[in-house]
Amino acid sequence: MHRPAFGVKMNSSGIGVDMDPNPTEDASGLAYIIRELDSLRAGLSMLGLKQCSCCRKYFQCPDGKNLLNASQLVCYMCLEGWWRRESPRLNIGERRVAERQILRWLVAYHGAKVIRQIRQMPEADAIELKMVVGCEQCGGTGKRDNGICQNCDGRGSEWVVVIKPQMR
Ligand SMILES: [Zn+2]
Ligand SMILES: [Zn+2]
Repeated sequence: MHRPAFGVKMNSSGIGVDMDPNPTEDASGLAYIIRELDSLRAGLSMLGLKQCSCCRKYFQCPDGKNLLNASQLVCYMCLEGWWRRESPRLNIGERRVAERQILRWLVAYHGAKVIRQIRQMPEADAIELKMVVGCEQCGGTGKRDNGICQNCDGRGSEWVVVIKPQMR
């Protein structure tokens, strides 16, 4: 039995809907399904929805909050797993840039704090997300002005930490 397929298209008067141009086609065919999915995907992106590259879920993106835009679009839930896979593929310079993007995104949209001294680290069971990024002050070397970097205590790294909402 035939189900009508819809294509969403943008023209000068806005978003329009096209009927299936080939109504006799077998609706169970793989090509049909792929075309349906392409139409849906195009429609969702016209509505301003964007897809996480990991979990493939769609998110509204009125601002940058729901998806980090760092070479790929990644949602908050997927961030740690994505970074574990992605970071070994990057060279040092690329990794530093991506780390700054992650830090800024977590601080701006997810209430993250930057922890530079181990003694300021919150209790483990209060932490929802913890990521290690290179220290911005010493460029990850741990050294500065012929001594150790005071910003990171010479570790060359700092932490970006999100506290569980109920613990804030
Ligand atoms: Zn995701
Ligand atoms: Zn440092």
